[in-house]
This record gives sequence, C-alpha cells and structure tokens, in this order.
Amino acid sequence: MPKSHIASAAAAAARLRNLFDAKDVAELVDGIRHGQRLAVSRAITLVESTRPQHKQSAAALLSQLSFRPGSAPPPLGLRVGISGPPGAGKSSLIEALGCALVNAGEKVAVLAIDPSSAQTGGAILGDKTRMSKLSCLDGAFVRPTPSRGTLGGVARATADAVAVCEAAGFTWTLIETVGVGQSEVAVSRLCDCMALVMPPVGGDELQVIKRGITELADLVVVNKADGPTQLAARRAAAAFRGTLHFHRAVRRAWTARVQTASALTGEGVGALVDNLREYRQALLASGELQQLRRDQAIHLAWKAAEEGLLEDLRSSEGVQAALGTLRPQLAAGSLGVRPAAEAMLAALRAEWSSGQGLVEGIRR
Ligand code: GDP
Repeated sequence: MPKSHIASAAAAAARLRNLFDAKDVAELVDGIRHGQRLAVSRAITLVESTRPQHKQSAAALLSQLSFRPGSAPPPLGLRVGISGPPGAGKSSLIEALGCALVNAGEKVAVLAIDPSSAQTGGAILGDKTRMSKLSCLDGAFVRPTPSRGTLGGVARATADAVAVCEAAGFTWTLIETVGVGQSEVAVSRLCDCMALVMPPVGGDELQVIKRGITELADLVVVNKADGPTQLAARRAAAAFRGTLHFHRAVRRAWTARVQTASALTGEGVGALVDNLREYRQALLASGELQQLRRDQAIHLAWKAAEEGLLEDLRSSEGVQAALGTLRPQLAAGSLGVRPAAEAMLAALRAEWSSGQGLVEGIRR
C-alpha cells in the first residue's frame, strides 16, 4: 500500500477514535482562522468533550485561538441569549433573525443550551432546531445540538464554543435556551444581551407568563404577530410593556424594550435587527459592553475552575477510597453528612499535596 494511503488510513482511524494530537490542533486553529465551518464544528466537538484525553488538546486549542496582546483586538459583535417558553417560536425567529443579519453582511453563529440534555439526551431542543435555511448560508454557522452534562458543564462548553466561533469571525452569536429559569440565568452570564421570545397569549396565561418575565430581559419579542394571533400579540406586547416599568434597569445605557414580530411573515424581524444593533451601539458607547466582556471572562474562569475541581473530586481515587470506608457509617447514621464531606475533601487535599510533593521532587 502506498505510504500516503497508510498515512490517510491512520489519520482516518485517529479521527474515528476522535483523538486530537498537536498536529490536529494546529490544523484546526488554521481552519478556524480561515473561517472554515468544518474546522469550527470539529473544534466544538473537541471543547465539548468530557474525555480526559481531549482536555489538554481543547486547552491548547483555546489558548492558541485567544487574542494576543499587541495584535489588533477582534471586533466586538454581540452575544445574544434567546430564551422563552417552548413553542413560542424561538428557533423559527432565530432562523429569520440569523438570515436577516447574514443578508446585512454579518457573520452569525447559532448555539443552543439545553439543560434537559443531562436527563433526556437533549429531547427538548434535540434535532428540532435544524434551521435549514440559515445553515445553508455561507455567513452562518448553526450548531443545534448541545453537549450533554451538568448545566455548569454545558454552559462552560458553550462559552468555549462561542470563543471558537468568534475566532472564526462569527462575531454575532445567538444562544438559544429553553425557558427554564436556571438555564436562563446561566445563559445571561455568557451573553451581552438577553432577548425573551414570548407567545401571543392573553388572559390568565398572560398573567402567569408576566410573572415569569425576569429582570434579565433587555428585549421582549412577542412572536406570531400574524393572521389570527396578530391582535393578541399586540395586546400581549402592551401588557409586557406595562410590566417592564416595574423592573429595575438591567443596563445603565439601555432601557428594556418590547416589540412584536412574526418569524412566519418576517414582519418585525428588521426591527429586531435594528433593536439589537442599537443595543450594541449604546453599550459600546457607554463602555458597558467592554465591561460586560471583562466580567464574563472572570465569571467563566471561575466556572471552569469549579468544573475542574468537581471533576478532580469525582475522579479522585483517594476520595473514592475514603467514601468506601465511610459508607457503612453514613448509611447507619452514625456519621453525619458534614464530617463525611470533610473527610472526602481531606482525602482530595492529601492527594493534591502528595502530587505537589512529586512535582517539587521532579523540579529538584
Ligand atoms: P420554539 O420551541 O420556541 O423553538 O418554537 P418553534 O420555532 O419550534 O415554533 C413552534 C411552532 O410555532 C412551530 O409550529 C412554528 O411553525 C410556529 N411558529 C413559529 N413562529 C411563528 C410565527 O411567527 N407565526 C406563526 N403563526 N407560527 C409560528
């Protein structure tokens, strides 16, 4: 067999095992810098991976992609979190919004956070969010299926995915989440702007949803303002406007707005683009966007460190051994939960300090 075939067979086999070595990482970085969607997609698979052997490669990739002091800073786009109850039309509206942005010359990435994926394998968003029109456009990158894992893990992986997309020039990121309070808060910590997509409901249902409108909203979009639901959408928008007056301002340079839209007819999608652009401009001018990015980076560093700690705790042999010894006493109630936890942490610290001793020994 010719050498080149052997090499490509080996590369294919490595790909099959989903391994990423330094050469793969360098290739990915190059592909991402050239805006290649396949490279972006593979890189996201890598940063989402929970396999220990992928962690180092993912860290190497992210560090090579990060902006180097001294070089021109990348342009600031907008990270938009899009949340709302299932069926409100989030996916449809994101597709319409994404197409409008791309047609206006922007590069747009769509990502999704689905905390239910930990339990259901991502049944709520799942494959539903295909966004076939948007994914065909050159200026768009659509990644509908989020990784599995804890909400913290999924949020961290999403933040990494945002970094990959931005390095590839997709400076507008639209992050879809199902309207579960906890995930909304997690997404708001990753995003510059939170848009809530609401259905055109009235009466009692509206009262319930109004209560659910959080202080996090920068923009409320009442969708399905078309056909028989057009009037209801306008009424709901007026009711939401009234509600927002009671909320404290989320941003210094921006007061939350409410608008109607139809993902079906496209009406209001232009206004949505305008609102997002105005929002970005207002926060840029006041310096709030730059401050938000700094806050996000610090928050995400904490989250990544917390996730790392949890992984260390769960994978520690010392902790497992301590738990094995304590389990009968815990089960019998002769040992409290708090002392058991202290013993587990002590086992982890002991493992760390022996590891530290090893590192120092090697240095000496
Ligand atoms: P999601 O669960 O919030 O992502 O909602 P989807 O985008 O999947 O939409 C839920 C349903 O509402 C689908 O049947 C859509 O076709 C429909 N839908 C979405 N947007 C509109 C709209 O603007 N007008 C109308 N009439 N239907 C819409």
